[in-house]
Amino acid sequence: MTRTPIIGGNWKMNTDRAAGLALAKAVAAGVSTGTKSEVAIYPPFPYLPLISEALCATGSQVILGAQDVYHAEKGAFTGEVSVAMLKDVGCRAVLTGHSERRHVLHEGDDLINMKTLAALNGGLICTLCVGETLHQREVNETDHINERQLRAGLRGVTAAHLDRLVIAYEPVWAIGTGKTATPADAQNAHSHIRAVLADLFGNDAAAKIRIQYGGSVTAANAAELMKQPEVDGALVGGASLKPDDFVAICKAAGG
Ligand code: PEP
Repeated sequence: MTRTPIIGGNWKMNTDRAAGLALAKAVAAGVSTGTKSEVAIYPPFPYLPLISEALCATGSQVILGAQDVYHAEKGAFTGEVSVAMLKDVGCRAVLTGHSERRHVLHEGDDLINMKTLAALNGGLICTLCVGETLHQREVNETDHINERQLRAGLRGVTAAHLDRLVIAYEPVWAIGTGKTATPADAQNAHSHIRAVLADLFGNDAAAKIRIQYGGSVTAANAAELMKQPEVDGALVGGASLKPDDFVAICKAAGG
């Protein structure tokens, strides 16, 4: 099974209007040749319309995504943003269950599940992030935690959603810390994730779902990680703010 790699750049709460626009343009220009991977960027909410227009103006294939979404269609949900609003400003993708949403904003599996379902039902590409903390890793719970987060996050997801579902394995201890899972660790965790997906959706469907690795991916370690047969791309935080590094990661995945 050949899966097209997908690389995501999660900008988190970084950039300003001018820097975000410049970054998006640099990424679009950098990946326009020499990469066979799909590339998505996830800027902060306020800059989405501006960046959407810039990507459209150059005919870029870069997918615009949001870092979060709320599951309700509309109404009294102060501060929240719906799937329809994201699509209205040109988004085609969204992240759910990112470790910072789980551990800093205290989102639980049920909320993450509702967001994931809303995103998939609304036609967005949805990257559901899963991953263990350092303590959970030390007590050998990596596979168990990933499985729990997958089964809970994907409750209600059906075959009709699967071509828009991406999973990101992001060990919490590796995010923004400079510590990276070894390629073998990533391969093992991804294999278990795919086994869970096979149990949920069948072997053939599971074989088509992309599983990204995330956690301190850099231009220097990307190629080695992405050589692993179960690693179908990367979700990149810090390095996605440096256009040359991010483009190099995209090319390492799709070269
Ligand atoms: C992330 O934000 O999903 C991430 C993996 O961050 P970093 O690459 O900085 O570890």
